[in-house]
Order: sequence, then C-alpha cells, then structure tokens
Amino acid sequence: MVTPAADCLFCKILAGEIPSIAVYENDVVYCFRDIAPAAPSHVLVIPRSHIENAHHVTVADAETLAAMFGAAQEVARLEGIEPEDRGYRLVMNVGKDAQNSVPHLHLHVLGGRHLEWPPG
Ligand code: AMP
Repeated sequence: MVTPAADCLFCKILAGEIPSIAVYENDVVYCFRDIAPAAPSHVLVIPRSHIENAHHVTVADAETLAAMFGAAQEVARLEGIEPEDRGYRLVMNVGKDAQNSVPHLHLHVLGGRHLEWPPG
C-alpha cells in the first residue's frame, strides 16, 4: 500500500476520490485519459508511488521507471499507435517553464495525429 501525498490530484485519482477513465494498469502504474486531450490519443502514465517530477527521480526508482515505459508501450498497442505504423510522443514536463501543472510524476503518451517539432 502506497501512502498518498496530501493534496496531490493524481494521488486522489489513484485513490478513486476523483474519477478518471482507465486505459491500462498494473501493480506499479495507472494509465488514464488526459482530461484536456492535446491529441486523439492522450494518456497519462503515473506511478502509484508519489514522486514529484523527473527531477526527483533516483536510482531507487529504476523499476518504477521501467514499469512506466512498459506501460506506455502497452498503451500504444491498445491505442493503435505503435511505431511500426503510426508512432507517438512521450513527454515529461518538469517545472514551471515547461508548464508542469501536476506535481506527481507522469508520462504523457500522445499520438493519433502528426505531431509538430519543436513543441511551442
Ligand atoms: P503537466 O502539465 O505536464 O503537469 O500535465 C498534467 C496533465 O494533467 C494535463 O495535461 C492536464 O490536462 C491533466 N489533468 C489535470 N486534471 C486531470 C484530471 N482530473 N483527469 C485527467 N487529467 C487531468
């Protein structure tokens, strides 16, 4: 059982206190649809353990990170955006210049349309 962080939106989603649309989950991660999708497929992959953002990740989180990338691959399969056919973008915003709005580590899985580069 993971201890949720006080006043963390994504910890509340993990606890079922705030509704979400699940796409995939396992013991380590939960994947759900972004409430304001920026692409036809926009899924957030979050660890069940509270880590503030990528700048707080340490070597002790190696298994959690591997599980997040494995889940992103599964999400891409479920969404029909695997790289052999379509492709997708993985994004982690860190801090205010990157417009990181929720301080609980998350990977955005974006796909289903052509994605411009560089981002704005
Ligand atoms: P970031 O800006 O990188 O911190 O990403 C946070 C993401 O969480 C944004 O894309 C928001 O649209 C999304 N978000 C905020 N609240 C919710 C919610 N209740 N359910 C699903 N996604 C949310």
